[in-house]
Amino acid sequence: MNPAPKEMIIDGLGVSSGIAIGIVHVRESGAIAVPEYAVKGAEVDAEVSRLDVALKTAQRQIARLRTKAASMPPSAAEEMVFLLEAYDQMLDDSRLVRGAFRRITDDKINAEAAVQAEINDISQSFAALDDAYIAARVDDVREVANRLIRVLTKSHVKPLNEVPKGSIIISEDMTPADTAQLNPKNVAGFATVLGGAQGHTAIMARALGLPAVLGAPGLLGAVKSGDQVVVDGNQGRVIINPKPATLAAFEAKQAAHRKKLGRLARLRRQPSVTRDGTEISLGCNVELPIEMPGVLSSGATNIGLLRSEFMFMNRDDIPTQDEQYKALRDMVKSMDGRPVTMRTLDIGGEKLAQSMTQDFGDSAQSALGLRGIRLSLKKTELLEDQLSAILRAGAHGPVRILLPMVSTQQEVRKTRQILKKVVTRLKRKKVKIANPLPPLGVMIEVPSAALTADALAGVSDFFAVGSNDLTMYTMAVDRTDEQVAPLYNPLHPSVLRLIQFTADAALRARIPISICGEMAGDPRFTALLMGLGIRELSMSAHALGPVKQRVREIDLSAARDRAVHIMSQTDSGRIAMLLDDFNSLV
Ligand code: PEP
Ligand code: MG
Repeated sequence: MNPAPKEMIIDGLGVSSGIAIGIVHVRESGAIAVPEYAVKGAEVDAEVSRLDVALKTAQRQIARLRTKAASMPPSAAEEMVFLLEAYDQMLDDSRLVRGAFRRITDDKINAEAAVQAEINDISQSFAALDDAYIAARVDDVREVANRLIRVLTKSHVKPLNEVPKGSIIISEDMTPADTAQLNPKNVAGFATVLGGAQGHTAIMARALGLPAVLGAPGLLGAVKSGDQVVVDGNQGRVIINPKPATLAAFEAKQAAHRKKLGRLARLRRQPSVTRDGTEISLGCNVELPIEMPGVLSSGATNIGLLRSEFMFMNRDDIPTQDEQYKALRDMVKSMDGRPVTMRTLDIGGEKLAQSMTQDFGDSAQSALGLRGIRLSLKKTELLEDQLSAILRAGAHGPVRILLPMVSTQQEVRKTRQILKKVVTRLKRKKVKIANPLPPLGVMIEVPSAALTADALAGVSDFFAVGSNDLTMYTMAVDRTDEQVAPLYNPLHPSVLRLIQFTADAALRARIPISICGEMAGDPRFTALLMGLGIRELSMSAHALGPVKQRVREIDLSAARDRAVHIMSQTDSGRIAMLLDDFNSLV
């Protein structure tokens, strides 16, 4: 009889609460189906730059795995770093890379097919040498080729749609687009080696209600498909092959968590008012249509942030205006008169769409590059289509238009001009659109926007504070990078002062202001945000119950006094202490 497998615990970042118990499905990193097509003469250069961009992306992935390896036990770390260095060199210059470029230009085929053809050739030429050392080196080249093909085809987890019910996905990394494909009916939770707590993968996990742990080093080497595993999203732990006693303890915690959710769900019909009678509007953030049933049953009074990126992910082409209109219209209709704030495309950074990045390459991959409104204003035909779709959806219920990543007044003015043109065109064609026209608001999520909030208020109908990016750009901390996760702190006085400055500017200009970053969905921050004058919060549907419960406990004048005290502090540790102390009292 085989001995019971040894229990093992791996720590990471708990990014989505709850406990999942299930059977591991390791994301395949082996060969994948590679599309092959001819590339016309004029498109060869674009295909070459696609491969260039993919090489850089793969090198960035390797660099992240290398930093991550540092937190593994020393002997494992050494071996891992050695291997990753070899991969990095291959991506820099090798027969594989040179051959792939040559095949694109000479054979005029697409980049992924060129990489596949080259690796086939390499494998064949060494197959005759029956040598274990060479076979291992060829395996390494194949690993690098597969990584490149995955980057090029963006086909990380497509087969994961079909995993058996109760599966737990274990993977090196999970992009937001990958996560969007997970089916919560089959997937119980997931854990990855890479990823930070505030990236869109984490947000998506919370939105889908999937317990998740990211940034867990050594995970892939420790599990295999078929193992039993616990993903503890509360503590940020993955327990592999739990002992019967451990399993029983987690089953009890899981039952307690479900019970708590049930209790909170009963608050659904209760009003969201403070103890002294001030109403706080609680809306939902939506990133995928699959969330709509949860939104409708959450008791939300509006959708405060519809991340329109979902329509552009996991596809090679751009959705037509009609396609966008239909998806948005269905959401507006299902909200039955409750307003929907539709954000224009915020693709770029970690949220990549194949159809966009081909045109803009590296810049669209950088958090400081062509993200959000910057990209929309470069691709104005796309913005026009999106505005048209929103205006048309607005004929079925109240909508607002929200612009992401605004950093100057000029961007808002330009968008207004485009909006005007689109309205005139639709009216001329007698297309039914929102009447009155939707308000146009801006996300305050970069320091330049927050520091000129008074000027932006002059050209905007409302503000929505994106505290996720505002924290990232203010602290200069990549929200997806687990290495710097401890520095990512929305309670840093710099971030709070920018929120306060923005709130004051909005109140003076008498325009509505909401918070739709993750701070809004964390009851720890509710009293502070209310004390700073915020009366509208938008969050994932799962967060609505806990936040409403907190709102109903708070006395607004006490929250205001505590906010004044907190804002006079310069140390984030003391700020946290003052806030937690207030939360424990009321
Ligand atoms: C934010 O930055 O806080 C925000 C809500 O936008 P996203 O998370 O989609 O970048
Ligand atoms: Mg943002």
